[in-house]
Amino acid sequence: MPVIDYKCPSCGSGMVFDSETGMLSCHSCGREDSIENNADPLLQVRNTFSEEEQAVEYHCKSCGAIIMTDADTVATTCSFCGSGVVIGDRLVGKLAPAMVIPFKISKEEAVKAFRKWCRNGRLTPDGFMTADRIQSMTGMYVPFWLYDLNNKVEVHAHATRVRTYTRGEYRYTETQHFDVYRDIALNYVKVPIDASAKLNDELMDKLEPFPYEQLKSFKTPYLAGYIAEKYNHDEQQLLPRAKDKIAPFIDSFIQSEMTGYTSVTYTSKQIDTALARADYVLLPVWMVQYDYKKAKYTFAMNGQTGKVVGKPPISKAKVSAWFAGIAGVSFLSLKFVSWAMGGGLW
Ligand SMILES: [Zn+2]
Ligand SMILES: [Zn+2]
Repeated sequence: MPVIDYKCPSCGSGMVFDSETGMLSCHSCGREDSIENNADPLLQVRNTFSEEEQAVEYHCKSCGAIIMTDADTVATTCSFCGSGVVIGDRLVGKLAPAMVIPFKISKEEAVKAFRKWCRNGRLTPDGFMTADRIQSMTGMYVPFWLYDLNNKVEVHAHATRVRTYTRGEYRYTETQHFDVYRDIALNYVKVPIDASAKLNDELMDKLEPFPYEQLKSFKTPYLAGYIAEKYNHDEQQLLPRAKDKIAPFIDSFIQSEMTGYTSVTYTSKQIDTALARADYVLLPVWMVQYDYKKAKYTFAMNGQTGKVVGKPPISKAKVSAWFAGIAGVSFLSLKFVSWAMGGGLW
């Protein structure tokens, strides 16, 4: 049976990962088990299924109900009894994550941040902050590739240095010409690219940085009680995105190597990027996704650092009222409002 659950050895209740202690915890009897020092239950069941044969239906080991999953789900909770379950056959072979950053922010903290984000409904439309909306707060491990990229950069440029000086009655302008050549080795490590087709790439980018010193060797109990997805795109498919992501950093490094000239004209720029390694990792994100008046909104929060991104809906009526209440600042734009709400640029 490829479904793994985390029964408490003391009392039989379902155990979940606790973001505060970093342990696999039983909320019924208080038992806490170290994840790092214990064997992953995945190891015991791994030989009972092969990578190719995926089960069509998954049943909860606690209550026997069918577990509702889509093809990408690797961890979820049973919708009948609430047990945290992990779909073992979607975590082996090439789908086995190398590492995980566990959640540090608890659901309560995430909900608090969500309320604050909405400013307790002051500028968001009436009826937006509902109990349902808060209930839908989801802790999700999002699949990412972490790329190590080695770049060999060769640049040819024509540069000038101009100086003017006066000697006697004459004013001289002296222009020196240079052929500049730079051969630079630039290595980037752990460049994160979100590997889930469902999530907005731009939004995921904004959740960075993730503190990589918190990376742990992957073990399934970290997923207990959370949602997790497997990747949709492999490391080769996403390599172009990783290259695009580091391109501006390479450009600014090249510029920093070209100082001291009056002008620089590039004649050739050759960047060869070699994929040194790519690790499949799961990173923690708290999320509320919802449709509101035909538009899609996402609240997303880095589950380790607490950084919040996304933009809440703004009630036009409430914004006008808010402006009216502050005399003399009516020139402020809506943009300022979204900034004031902590919504960021998105
Ligand atoms: Zn227990
Ligand atoms: Zn169940």
